[in-house]
Amino acid sequence: MSVRSIMRRPLFRCVPTRFLAFAATFAAASGFVACGEPAPTARLAPSGDDGSGHAAPSAATIAANTAVLSELPFEDETDFELARRGFIAAIEDPVILTESGVEVWNLDKFAFETGDSPDSVNPSLWRQAKLNSIHGLFEVTDGIYQVRGYDLANMTLIRGDTGWIIIDPMTTRETGAAALRLVAEHLDERPISALIYTHSHIDHFGGARAVFPDLATAEGVPVIAPEGFVVEAVSENVLAGTTMSRRAAYMFGFLLGRGPREHVDSGLGKASTPGTFGLVAPTQFIDATPVEMTIDGVRLVFQNTPGAEAPAEMMIYLPDWKALCGAENISHVQHNLYTLRGAKVRDALRWSNYIQEALRIFPDAEILFSSHHWPTWGNPDVVAYLKKQRDLYKYIHDQTLRLANHGKTPLEIAEEIRLPDSIAKSFGNRGYYGTLSHNSKAVYQHYFGWFDGNPANLNPLPPEEAGRRYVEFMGGADAVVEKARASYDAGDYRFVAMVLNHLVFAEPENDRARALLADTYDQLGYQAESGPWRDFYLTGALELREGAVALPFRLTGTTDIVSAMPTGLFFDALAVRMNGEKADGEEVVLNFEFTDIGETHVLWVENAVLHHEEAPAREDADVTVKLARSTWDAVLTQEKTLQGAILAGEIDVDGSRLALLGFFSLLDSFEPTFEIVRP
Ligand SMILES: [Zn+2]
Repeated sequence: MSVRSIMRRPLFRCVPTRFLAFAATFAAASGFVACGEPAPTARLAPSGDDGSGHAAPSAATIAANTAVLSELPFEDETDFELARRGFIAAIEDPVILTESGVEVWNLDKFAFETGDSPDSVNPSLWRQAKLNSIHGLFEVTDGIYQVRGYDLANMTLIRGDTGWIIIDPMTTRETGAAALRLVAEHLDERPISALIYTHSHIDHFGGARAVFPDLATAEGVPVIAPEGFVVEAVSENVLAGTTMSRRAAYMFGFLLGRGPREHVDSGLGKASTPGTFGLVAPTQFIDATPVEMTIDGVRLVFQNTPGAEAPAEMMIYLPDWKALCGAENISHVQHNLYTLRGAKVRDALRWSNYIQEALRIFPDAEILFSSHHWPTWGNPDVVAYLKKQRDLYKYIHDQTLRLANHGKTPLEIAEEIRLPDSIAKSFGNRGYYGTLSHNSKAVYQHYFGWFDGNPANLNPLPPEEAGRRYVEFMGGADAVVEKARASYDAGDYRFVAMVLNHLVFAEPENDRARALLADTYDQLGYQAESGPWRDFYLTGALELREGAVALPFRLTGTTDIVSAMPTGLFFDALAVRMNGEKADGEEVVLNFEFTDIGETHVLWVENAVLHHEEAPAREDADVTVKLARSTWDAVLTQEKTLQGAILAGEIDVDGSRLALLGFFSLLDSFEPTFEIVRP
């Protein structure tokens, strides 16, 4: 039996939700994110400001971007035809708001993306940005439809005998609901026959409550996900959440405006969305290949692909249409083997092998559609596309290790590795999201870790100390700025960034250094083909000029997701907050009894480490805390305060309250606006 059925846990409920960036969800869900005020900094003006706050593109940037035009076959318009094929209707006013008026999606802000690329955008990224702006409801084939362009991800609908089978409900309740309204208006308003999550990333499940606004409507409806989905969906970013969401703000350009000198595209789609996230628990898990089932008269064949693009992921074949859903393993980009927000690196070899497996078990596929971007039609084109994606990841894997086995180190490999033209000149493999540079480093990291084997890199000085010494060796701050200015004028931006970074870390208030480094990051951003690289550089420039910038939306948890977390995971997250120096010499034992779910967890501090295990309450505990898990969730999502819940009698504390307060005093809070581009 390959399909495991489970009871839907009663913990899932609807609660007031708030607005967060998707990658920040999990940090927030752990409830420990405060909204910090950034440190005041004298604002610096960019050179040649046009009101965007970013520098004018330099002659070197214009030359670099112009050169791209002759490197790639821009005359090939096939992708534009495919992205428009089957168009049924578009949302007339594509501005999607939350109930309280917060803007989740606004395609009007990308209206500038017409015509030839501006000097400040890599023409290849510009092309991808225009493709990702094509939006609407599309017929993939009679019976299969996609809503694209109203979210980072797609929603796919399959017409069953009586209802819709939905594959991926988008990122948020708002965007998912907008998609469903478009479907109801132009196709059919039908019941939901099944909801399928292709994988554990939030842009593929966060909109679940658009499909089932009232959980009662989900009763008896299959919700299907790959094995490991729930734990991966709720836990990927919990332990490392604060830093991961801070870096996600850089990667997705949350702090940037939209414009020729600002965010233009994420490569995978226009942008990631703030909004209301939810989760409806799966009822069935796919844990093998192939798994066949028929739902509402539709035959489905699942291919389980764990540990590639996501820890829990699967592809789906629809034999009645000879249509393959590639989930996010197959997209019109070179995807990330390493994601710049920070995450465990992905296994390129497994990823490639899954695509080969799909070629072997679904050789007759006539249609390929995925969780992002537009479909491919016709067996020869589908097979050719799958082969290129397969070989893209295997080539990076194999050639990185070939060079590593010649003794090359990550920086050298990233500089030397070149894709064959058959892959590189095909737009769908371009580095709009992942890049050859950082993906080859990911392969190296997967096998060798952070150390390149050179003893000079075994124990280098940290940035501020190194910066001070470098600046002194280079003749002092003024000399460094003078030389860096000459290198900037020569367009040697990568080196200018290295050198001025030393000066900024040595002298963070040196305005000339900060201003020139910010201009440098702008030029690097303008030349980048990757959306995340561009956003990383431009956000770095922004924060060099203005200081660390707080997110424009509040970070708090959503109860759907928080309540799905295993209790032990919270205590793992709590242990990460334990300040080792404060806890040195402390000993405390606490029982946590969760009255509504019948779980008891014992926590104890020993050797400055917080341990926990699910076990019978210890009699020698300093404190026993009795509460409902739902109360705990409300505290974590900041709907209630700990003190308030105690005063309201929802938390029963038996034993030394002083010991409990003492325990909490050992925990750090994390500041989500810490500096990145300055010390
Ligand atoms: Zn995705």
